Amino acid sequence: MNMMKITWAKILLCGFLLLLLPFSTVEAQPAAADSSCMVLIDPAHGGSDTGVKVSKKGVEKDITLAVALALKKQLEESDRKITVCLTRTEDAAVSIDERIRMAEQLKPRALISLHVNGGFGAGASGYEISFPGQQNITKESAEQHMNRSIRLGQRLQKSLEEVFPRKGRGIREAPVPLLSVLHAPSVCVELAFLTNEADRDKIISAKTQKDVVQALAKGIREYLK
Ligand SMILES: [Zn+2]
Repeated sequence: MNMMKITWAKILLCGFLLLLLPFSTVEAQPAAADSSCMVLIDPAHGGSDTGVKVSKKGVEKDITLAVALALKKQLEESDRKITVCLTRTEDAAVSIDERIRMAEQLKPRALISLHVNGGFGAGASGYEISFPGQQNITKESAEQHMNRSIRLGQRLQKSLEEVFPRKGRGIREAPVPLLSVLHAPSVCVELAFLTNEADRDKIISAKTQKDVVQALAKGIREYLK
């Protein structure tokens, strides 16, 4: 009988809390750090913002999304302790402000923004990793994430070198808007140049994308250790 009473009390309490929920969402606390989202992957662009587009298959927003979705799967399957969130999971427009807000609320241990490069002439090729330099950071408290961003970049560079030998263009400071507030150790990875024929053929292939995903996952796992 007592058990019954407790159960009913629980049901009533849950019902009461559920009724309160719509009124409490405005004041909702940001998602708990670490446990809910250890790594935030940002497939850049989306929706009407295609990013670099050179052919039907060579579209930046599609490549970044395909790699991000596979990377989440790979990371979570390889280590049950790793949780991955994405700034978008479909072909939809998400503003930079919205992406920054996600990083601020989720406070991940690492934020990796994925892009595919274009321009600088057809000869320009290779992958490139950038992090926000001191002068590009808009928040003083973000300085603590600087060294970690560089370390994350180095790990990713080391593993990407295995997929694209001698194609690395280095790790450098760059004023990337998404990373400028630096709510977490963050890097931007330009996977290849869509405007370079050899790079393009590689990066749109399923085989290379799979290798890239494995390399990024390896670099992220080593960084998280
Ligand atoms: Zn881009």
